[in-house]
Amino acid sequence: MGNLVQKYIDATKAKYPHEPEFLQTVEEVLLSIEPVLEAHPEYVEAGLVERLVEPERGIQFRVPWVDDNGKVQVNTGYRFEFNSALGPYKGGLRFAPNVYPGILKFLGFEQIFKNSLTGLPIGGGKGGADFDPNGKSDAEVMRFCQAFMSELFRHIGPDTDVPAGDLGVGGREIGYMFGQYKKLANCYTGTLTGKGTDNGGLAGRTEATGYGIVFFAREMLKHCGEELAGKTCVVSGFGNVAWGTVQKLNQLGAKVIAISGPDGYILDEDGVKGEKEDYMLELRASGKNIVAPYADKFPESKFVAGKKPWEVKADLYIPCATQNEVGMEDAKHIVENGAKFYCEGANMPTTNEAVEYLQENGVVVGPAKAANAGGVACSCLEMAQNAEHLIWSEDDVYAQLESIMVNIHKLAAEACEKYGLGYDLVKGANIAGFERVAKAMMLQGIV
Ligand code: GLU
Repeated sequence: MGNLVQKYIDATKAKYPHEPEFLQTVEEVLLSIEPVLEAHPEYVEAGLVERLVEPERGIQFRVPWVDDNGKVQVNTGYRFEFNSALGPYKGGLRFAPNVYPGILKFLGFEQIFKNSLTGLPIGGGKGGADFDPNGKSDAEVMRFCQAFMSELFRHIGPDTDVPAGDLGVGGREIGYMFGQYKKLANCYTGTLTGKGTDNGGLAGRTEATGYGIVFFAREMLKHCGEELAGKTCVVSGFGNVAWGTVQKLNQLGAKVIAISGPDGYILDEDGVKGEKEDYMLELRASGKNIVAPYADKFPESKFVAGKKPWEVKADLYIPCATQNEVGMEDAKHIVENGAKFYCEGANMPTTNEAVEYLQENGVVVGPAKAANAGGVACSCLEMAQNAEHLIWSEDDVYAQLESIMVNIHKLAAEACEKYGLGYDLVKGANIAGFERVAKAMMLQGIV
């Protein structure tokens, strides 16, 4: 069977040699699901893996818009509708200069299993554009979003494909895209999620990803007979995910001693809490992409320029910035620091070899597709809220989110146990996510 899985991996590598991020996740997932394929030869017979690694549909389009100087700009927009076995394609849109099919296909492929783990009726997809909202005026962002949606609108719908935000796409961008979608489609539906609460959005959606990560981390610790309260934590990232994570860690009594930004990291042994949490939001809103001013404002803290925070000794590490931010050197720091817990917040923040190294050295790893699934789970609640034409309370949302995250941990832990893999949540999450999609695909025939 090892040969078979390697053949799938090699064939994907041969077909898409210029998409390293996509190949990274394909390799990681396929190596994990090997025991499932061994137990289910009918999956092999049905060409399930060959179908899974190929998006059901990929759309690429021109996005022309006019900047504030009256100059025509042209970007490239994409949507990869990866898998609809469990429900409408669901996943975010990323606006960043490095967006190309390899990044969106990695995100779309991960999204299939993540969405499956939520237990909710959502398939997997991802899209975006090579557009950088940083440094653009509000009017430019609006014109870009409208131009982007002028093409995307014909491919999406509440029961077809439901985009949301991701890096570079927050409430503002979703608002503009939703406005344009509503105008073109002439109906007010839940076709985009991550909308503001004054705009059909779900209460608590902004914090949901970060809160969910901490609920998942709490379950990991509990499983190992430990408590989150009193633990020291290091968090990277400068967006919503990091912010929600820091907030919930504080609420549950943990202590965040380091946070990072694009320019370096802040070490604050007193803990990033109270007005310091709010200051994180201010720094982000400044649009300058720097964390350094934190140390000027709170002199008990220290700014370490140009470095990643993984050299700081802590009990729990949560990378919330972007893909592959933790490589071998970083993993070595984390192990040297005697860490026991590492929970991924960003999508695929760790290289495959770094994950292996952490696990081999006794660090319990919570994989992103399980730990950060709270965001998309709440997006599905937003779809439900919009479809029933009601407004949910924040308390309802948080209660649902917590039980979904507890269940995801349980599913992943049971799946690795079932296949004799011990407490390996990386493999367990891949297996549990795959099994649900595989069952649905088998029932739907070769389509
Ligand atoms: N971009 C987020 C993710 O990676 C959210 C997707 C969604 O809400 O559809 O899961």
